[in-house]
Amino acid sequence: MGDRQNVKKIAIIGAGIAGLSAAYVLEKEAADNGISIEIDLIEKQSRIGGNILTERKDDFIVEGGPDCVFSEKPASLKLCEKLGLEKELLKTREEKKGTYVYWNNKLHDLPEGVILMIPTMIMPILLSSLISFPGKMRMALEPFIPKRSNLAEESLSHFVTRRLGKELLDKIAEPLVAGIHAGNPKSMSITASFPRFVELEQKYGSLIRGMLSRRKEMVSMMKGRTPKYTMFMTLKKGLQELTDNIQNTLIFTTKLTDKEVIAVIKKNSGYEASLKAGDIKFYDSVIIATPSYITSSLLRGVDSDLADKLMEIPYVSTATVSLAYSVADVNHIKNGFGFIVPGISNRKIMAATYTSNKFSYRAPEGSMLLRCFVGGAQNEDLVFLDNKEMIQMVKTELKDIVNIKAKPIFIKIYRWEKAMPQYVVGHIDRIKKIEELSAKHPGLYLTGSAYNGIGISDCITTSHKVAEEAVKFLKADGQ
Ligand SMILES: Cc1cc2nc3c(=O)[nH]c(=O)nc-3n(C[C@H](O)[C@H](O)[C@H](O)COP(=O)(O)OP(=O)(O)OC[C@H]3O[C@@H](n4cnc5c(N)ncnc54)[C@H](O)[C@@H]3O)c2cc1C
Repeated sequence: MGDRQNVKKIAIIGAGIAGLSAAYVLEKEAADNGISIEIDLIEKQSRIGGNILTERKDDFIVEGGPDCVFSEKPASLKLCEKLGLEKELLKTREEKKGTYVYWNNKLHDLPEGVILMIPTMIMPILLSSLISFPGKMRMALEPFIPKRSNLAEESLSHFVTRRLGKELLDKIAEPLVAGIHAGNPKSMSITASFPRFVELEQKYGSLIRGMLSRRKEMVSMMKGRTPKYTMFMTLKKGLQELTDNIQNTLIFTTKLTDKEVIAVIKKNSGYEASLKAGDIKFYDSVIIATPSYITSSLLRGVDSDLADKLMEIPYVSTATVSLAYSVADVNHIKNGFGFIVPGISNRKIMAATYTSNKFSYRAPEGSMLLRCFVGGAQNEDLVFLDNKEMIQMVKTELKDIVNIKAKPIFIKIYRWEKAMPQYVVGHIDRIKKIEELSAKHPGLYLTGSAYNGIGISDCITTSHKVAEEAVKFLKADGQ
């Protein structure tokens, strides 16, 4: 790719989906712009993929971290299509659809039509055994509550209570959001975590009216057509198919696994990265795709103000515990994608997914795979129970909540220590400041789940943007 003098060297630090997708876009954009590049993708662990981790056990497919992508944010699906993985994309098993909420010692249906946390169908709410009569009346008032004129960041609990009432917050919004962000609704920023809801309120004056109007548009757009995707999508062999496929397409990227970067400093017109093993490498540009508290420690020598701001983003730990059963032992669980557990129910797990009900190919005929979520902002200590205590705790929860008493065929535990960034109130300003400070260092870019969205698609979108910026910088630098 061109003569060696003009080859631009780039380091991408961290090989999760953010680092990998940055490498993917960088290669394509550099080729399109006629720039010769060599990328070092530097990863601390022996494996590439970060939180995306799929394991095969017998004929089961077990996801350690994320298990699906949200199709309303299409970046992951588009990337799968570009990688030729369209045929591997897997819809949810709509015939098994349904979510339950554990409240007052039993499972209730999450009323049909509740999208994320906003009710969009009247009858299912009216008939719901989950919400009390005063709670239903309070929800019905939502369209008449004036929109907020103050646009300062607001906490999730304040926003939901203000619009839909405390009961909806406690029984629906909090557990649904805990399942995604593992966060505490009192400190989480609605503006940073779910900007769409704030936009709906501002545009339509009501979340319910806004959602209904969007639903109508969707229905008329889709008239007579089968939707290409369901709300949640995955890949047949598991989400690691995505990260494995990205790395297999990379041509100008050297993957340096088992290599931990301990510092980045400015040198001449580029950057030097020091590895724990002692090597020091020079790069024209550096993209850092590690969790922000690690990025902070790497950049202390470049800009201490930036390092301080990065350190302000809190993280929490979670764990997933997958259990395989013989169908004969759990044949009372026929339908549903799983249940969520509101904090007010005072249980130890946050949620459980009936994995093999949600997606095909997850368990062999005659077996069922189920996955529990542990930890998060409200119960973080539980992540660090030893395996024996963790298994005992999860089994007790499953017995009490869903009456599973059988011995599992196997159990797999994955702990995700400080892996979930928390978008607490103040996040938007913090990110603005981080962007301002990092812009003072040409050729330095930050990406990952800490900044502009925690989902896989958000990471891909952020990485796409920074890779394009890096190519612009390298192009200008070469002229
Ligand atoms: C349990 C769980 C379930 C989730 N479920 C979903 C879901 O269903 N759908 C969804 O869209 N999102 C989900 N998410 C969120 C999503 O998985 C993450 O936001 C995303 O994978 C983060 O990718 P990343 O590349 O930013 O970070 P990571 O995957 O954390 O990658 C960062 C990489 O940097 C490496 N690294 C760290 N320090 C160094 C260093 N000093 N030198 C070199 N390398 C270093 C790490 O080893 C790691 O590989 C879930 C997250 C968790 C934890």
